[in-house]
Amino acid sequence: MLTHFISPGQCACCRLCCNFQRSSAWETPALTPDLVQIMRQRNVALRQRADGSTTFSLCFPDDAPEDYCAICPVLDPSSGCILSREQRPLECRLWPLRLMRSPSGQLCVALYSACPALTPATREQITAYAAGGLRHTLLRLANEQPLSIRSFNSAYTVLFYLD
Ligand code: SF4
Ligand code: SF4
Repeated sequence: MLTHFISPGQCACCRLCCNFQRSSAWETPALTPDLVQIMRQRNVALRQRADGSTTFSLCFPDDAPEDYCAICPVLDPSSGCILSREQRPLECRLWPLRLMRSPSGQLCVALYSACPALTPATREQITAYAAGGLRHTLLRLANEQPLSIRSFNSAYTVLFYLD
């Protein structure tokens, strides 16, 4: 997550990003080959998505209700993500920003609007940072990790387009 704007303490109380309902399983991060290797060494079950990305499997009990949240397999419920900040998937490091493709195919930077740590002020700061200092990095990352770019979803707000 963007720790300049959202504190680890806020996330520790929330953990929304690291919990997934069945309907939000599409949100699990795409793993680079290095991360796939790390996950395999940790015996984390992986799955392949139709877009070609590899991500971790989620464990839903058969009788789980629709709103049951499965935790990311590398989340320690008491201490947080067991991966170092540098090891974490791109999508986790950028959160609550996300690289997305609009319905017309344009690459955009979108913000997850329901993050409880977002105030009008942090929203403005994150938007300014993404459009300013982070813009070139976002473009480079989009080129390097195209499988991290998701189709647009209405839970997100488009901040600006990158192409
Ligand atoms: S939704 Fe926001 S506050 Fe909650 S864990 Fe994610 S970044 Fe942190
Ligand atoms: S890899 Fe880490 S930061 Fe990303 S969803 Fe899993 S526990 Fe959360």
